[in-house]
Amino acid sequence: MARTIGITTAEDIATGLVEGHELIGELRLYQQGPEDAPLLSLPPEGIAQRFADEIRAVAAGQAVAAIGVGLPGIINCGFIEESPNLRQLKGAHMQDLVAAALRNCGITAPVYVYNDADVLAAGLAATHGNLDRFIRVWALGHGIGFGVYPHSEGVWEGGHMVVSLDPRERYCGCGGVGHLEGIMGQRAMRLRFLDMEPDEVFENARKRDQRCVEFVKLWHRALAAATANSIHLAGPGKFFISGFNARHLDLNLLHQYLHEMVKMSPLQSYVFEVVPDSDVNAVIGAAVSAAQNAAR
Ligand SMILES: [Zn+2]
Repeated sequence: MARTIGITTAEDIATGLVEGHELIGELRLYQQGPEDAPLLSLPPEGIAQRFADEIRAVAAGQAVAAIGVGLPGIINCGFIEESPNLRQLKGAHMQDLVAAALRNCGITAPVYVYNDADVLAAGLAATHGNLDRFIRVWALGHGIGFGVYPHSEGVWEGGHMVVSLDPRERYCGCGGVGHLEGIMGQRAMRLRFLDMEPDEVFENARKRDQRCVEFVKLWHRALAAATANSIHLAGPGKFFISGFNARHLDLNLLHQYLHEMVKMSPLQSYVFEVVPDSDVNAVIGAAVSAAQNAAR
């Protein structure tokens, strides 16, 4: 069976060799050295070159059938239309840039670029035996990703759903008011609580600090609201929840709020599944999606 490579930037740069729906060997995580510029400060060509270096290391000289890349933002045929969390990518044709960087090191396999939450959804569908149904995933990380599988026409920027009408809710990375990411995103939480890290906010809520308790309720209500909006548009079904902040999730509280928001009985058959390890699933999803594209 042909092997493919998946690479994503959800948390670190994670790269892996995939056969079928399984990772072959270890996931490679990019280790930032002291002299390395952070990804956020690199121009698109620099990001493409770093990806090419990681892909070459994982390929280790063997031929691969295709390469799938997951990046944050609105992506159209390899072109980055918008990317609030990697702003310099806006207007870059990352598919061409990564393919060119790879050609320079002798790798000519086709490259496909996808939204990082969509590859996470594809990976979860592949590893959970859900390739035959519609699934959605919330990725709770620096930003808030919303991925769907199978791929469907549309924008699907669910992380920017409006979940509050309070004009003071303006912490979203895209600049929009009242957005889900403006409440749940890591960067947004840092802006809201300048005196503590997001982990401390959740910790202090457990210690009954009232400001933190109120925020943790808002955090869960926001996710319930966005999920309810999605259910009212696309129906109930399976919602995966992933990303490093999924560890702060209280599923009982989420269910309680969602139950208050979704009252029509045909819409109440929703299921949540928390899957903490988003890197492995996203890498598998990027590789599986690229294999599907290459086979067409
Ligand atoms: Zn936004």
